[in-house]
Amino acid sequence: MKIHNFSAGPCILPQEVFDKMAEAVLNFNNSGSSIMEISHRRADAQEVIDNAIQLVKDLMNVPDTHEVIFTQGGASLQFVMVPFNLMKLNGGKAAYTETGAWAKNAIKEAKRMGEVNVLASSADKNFNYIPKGFSIPSDVDYFHCTSNNTIFGTQMKSFPNSPVPLVCDMSSDIMSKPVDVSKFDVIYAGAQKNMGPAGSVVTIVKKDILGKTGRDIPNYLNYETHIAKGSAFNTWPVLAVYGVMLNLQWLKNLGGVPEIAKRNVAKAELMYGEIDRNGMFTGTAEKEDRSEMNATFVLKDESLKAEFDKMWKEAGISSLNGHRDVGGYRASMYNALPIESVQVLVDIMKEFETKFG
Ligand SMILES: *Cc1c(COP(=O)(O)O)cnc(C)c1O
Repeated sequence: MKIHNFSAGPCILPQEVFDKMAEAVLNFNNSGSSIMEISHRRADAQEVIDNAIQLVKDLMNVPDTHEVIFTQGGASLQFVMVPFNLMKLNGGKAAYTETGAWAKNAIKEAKRMGEVNVLASSADKNFNYIPKGFSIPSDVDYFHCTSNNTIFGTQMKSFPNSPVPLVCDMSSDIMSKPVDVSKFDVIYAGAQKNMGPAGSVVTIVKKDILGKTGRDIPNYLNYETHIAKGSAFNTWPVLAVYGVMLNLQWLKNLGGVPEIAKRNVAKAELMYGEIDRNGMFTGTAEKEDRSEMNATFVLKDESLKAEFDKMWKEAGISSLNGHRDVGGYRASMYNALPIESVQVLVDIMKEFETKFG
């Protein structure tokens, strides 16, 4: 049976990516070696990381003022690297918005290194909306926001004009729709939400903001190290980055970010249309802030949970359970999820209403 994978991360990837990765594990580019046993310094490995970096640049129209790097440690290490690279050693200050669990973790790390000004928070309503109408002070070293709140199903639909460097955690919606990279100073994203397998992180950084904090930054944590070494400062995960490279090639071949954005809108409209139409369910996020990537919803009558769970599991749907902080259900509709999978879920929701409504 075909599995419809609605997992919030690690994400579904196109079948051709799995096929090509499997082939490379056995025999990489007909070299007779597995991709897992070759040196990351070999020319054909070097080509993988160079291609992956170039694909990020092409797909996101990254301007020459910015560089793209691949590192490890997940988005969680970026919570640490951002203040290390941008927050001044003396009197360091940063502004954050608190829009969910990941934003909270980012704030926690920054607080170890300086003063953090939380400009706005949606904690009062269990993060079911995106706070708006705050202003960013000009006396902070940077402003940090989270574009898509994976757990709570909310998404920023626009970005503020910032008088200070603008930093964004785009882990769960990077390359899902066009963004103007020139507006940002740092964009980062753990690969496993919308770009590839777990094991690498993409950071896009504006070069001229670096080297200004007065901090002695540990080598690995310094963006300048990875820029200078073309993301090959130390042993990088060749298989994981190869997966990202293949997925980005897939995305480029189908028409790039503008094309996938259209498909993502169509999937989200289908999903939310049903959540709103169907009397058995309620969406948990404020309508205007709903995420195109992660749709969160709950049953109106919790006593029917076992019945609904049985139905979607029998239809081949996997990983639909919501995060424990929200409960209910979360349909993650990342780039590689086909609209046919959303249709299968919508059909099950209709059938459930017919049976139990
Ligand atoms: C998953 C996620 C993270 C954490 O990513 P790791 O790579 O596991 O550290 C951070 N931010 C957002 C928005 C996420 O969805």
